[in-house]
Amino acid sequence: MTNLNSSFKEKLDFKSYKSSGDIEVPERIIDQIIGQEEAVETVIKAAKQRRNVLLIGEPGIGKSMLAKGMAELLPPEELQDILVYPNMEDNNNPLIGAMPAGEGKKVVMTYRVKAKSQGERKNILMMAIIGAIIVIGFLLQQYLAAIIAAGIVLLVIMQMKPKNNVMVPKLLVNNDSKNTAPFVDATGAHAGALLGDVRHDPYQSGGLGTPAHERVEAGMIHKSNKGVLYVDEIGSMQMKTQQELLTAMQEKKYSITGQSESSSGAMVRSDEVPCDFVLVASGNLQVLKGMHIALRSRIRGYGYEVFMKDSMDDNLENRNKLVQFIAQEVKKDGRIPHFSREAVEEIIHEAQRRSGKKDELTLKLRDLGGLVRAAGDIATGEGADSVTLAHVISAKKLARTLEQQIADRYIDQRKTYSVFKSEGSKVGIVNGLAIIGDRSGILLPIAAEAAPAQSKDEGKIIATGKLGEIAKEAVQNVSALIKKNTGTDISNHDIHIQFLQSYEGIEGDSASVSIATAVISALENVPVDQTVALTGSLSVRGDVMPVGGVTGKIEAAAEAGMKKVIIPESNMDDVLIEERYKDKIEIIPVRNMSDVLENALLGSGKEGLVTKMKKITDKVPKGIIPKP
Ligand code: ADP
Repeated sequence: MTNLNSSFKEKLDFKSYKSSGDIEVPERIIDQIIGQEEAVETVIKAAKQRRNVLLIGEPGIGKSMLAKGMAELLPPEELQDILVYPNMEDNNNPLIGAMPAGEGKKVVMTYRVKAKSQGERKNILMMAIIGAIIVIGFLLQQYLAAIIAAGIVLLVIMQMKPKNNVMVPKLLVNNDSKNTAPFVDATGAHAGALLGDVRHDPYQSGGLGTPAHERVEAGMIHKSNKGVLYVDEIGSMQMKTQQELLTAMQEKKYSITGQSESSSGAMVRSDEVPCDFVLVASGNLQVLKGMHIALRSRIRGYGYEVFMKDSMDDNLENRNKLVQFIAQEVKKDGRIPHFSREAVEEIIHEAQRRSGKKDELTLKLRDLGGLVRAAGDIATGEGADSVTLAHVISAKKLARTLEQQIADRYIDQRKTYSVFKSEGSKVGIVNGLAIIGDRSGILLPIAAEAAPAQSKDEGKIIATGKLGEIAKEAVQNVSALIKKNTGTDISNHDIHIQFLQSYEGIEGDSASVSIATAVISALENVPVDQTVALTGSLSVRGDVMPVGGVTGKIEAAAEAGMKKVIIPESNMDDVLIEERYKDKIEIIPVRNMSDVLENALLGSGKEGLVTKMKKITDKVPKGIIPKP
């Protein structure tokens, strides 16, 4: 009925509930964050002290959620409205006023009423003048002249834009009736949006244009005053903009000027506008490289840096948190039904698979939320009143990531063009395995050829493409092993290694076992079983060391029609393949290179080679497989 393995079942002793609908969802965002206890604690502390925070971690693990949660923790009583007023002495230097939230609107209203009554008075005056002209004209019996004169006066007045003495200030930042501090997401914002801008005015000269103060626009740094300014991918923000951001952070006020130099807005510079925000910056480790040094050190010195987790221990407590997560996602979506207990269990099982590690649950919850919604949509489509196990299983097939879909497409294409073979045997050709994207496996066929060296001194290892370096290293790693075992000196040969098809975005450090196998096969002229796929990393001593993504790789091998897959023994606990692949493929755990050759090679030359190789590799004491 269910496809959960037994050890998984045993731990599945949740608090009692029939469906995710029985689980209560906490009110505050900060309490909805799953698995990031340390980050949550830091953010709570930072909110109390109004400190900046740098969150480092993978996408989709709750960074922006933490920033939003922090905004909820900041005191809303401190919120302010900000007004920009005209400056009668210097039109290009509008004035700024800050007041408690809700006051701004009232001030603007007062000015509007004043301006209106002044306008009305002007109208009355105008009517009186025209009336007087007509009356005088009639008295003098100059009817036509009087009407013409009145018409001219009317036209002149209408042409003249009223030189309004009462200019209404503009509400730059309005926090009226807000009961939480602002959260502003400035990810990817350009300088104008971030720092504020002054619009261009084509009629600036001649007094016909829009007054400068009305053209001033608040930036995100101002809108987040007393709240949180969130910037993801902080390292991809222009250096100059990061520098300005730092200045704003330090000064807590920042005047607004036109950002485009050729615009009339560039002539205008407002007084300083309050921008007392807390910065929450985020990104992955790479992003740190693009981050302004001074900005980073400001956060380090006056704030907190948190490295977030991408998985958590697989225990009862954490599984219960995932149940809460599902309830949250259902509630947030609002259109999908709640999950039955079996459906919840299947999502948790998927979280376990996606972590790629033994006894862990993934915290890449944005993706897992995608699966929850996909299953919910299927249930809704069927008119079901709860999401069942079957819905989740179909959703898993449907909701394949882009990378998985790419991998599928490659497999289809390559089956058509038969780039790889899933039967028979071949010298020098190996079906390696790699990971594309996050965790999608893909077959990576590798071909090696060996020829006597062209140069007298030494042979060359010729490997091109992105994986070339790894190939060279793998061959060097095995060269000593090969020489000892077979007497074949690699340095007397030119060895060509080719990846029969390579793609964007794959990493090859787990291909060293495959490369070594291909090279040995080519050198010794012993064929490789083409029904076998391989993954593993190789040490200089010939040990096979653990690699990432075994589950995805095994599934890809099965998908490509392989009968067996060789994986590092130390990875066995990470194997969490889907039920439907279990009968399709045999998993062979290996400890060292002789195990690999034993299972991957075919034909008469194999025995001698393996026996010799064993003598060397078996000297390594069992049970001590070094982890990288
Ligand atoms: P990030 O900013 O790290 O890319 P987000 O905070 O935008 O990720 O997360 C996207 C969505 O994924 C959230 O709205 C939430 O539904 C879900 N999610 C991600 N991480 C968590 C978490 N730790 N706890 C609960 N939900 C999460």
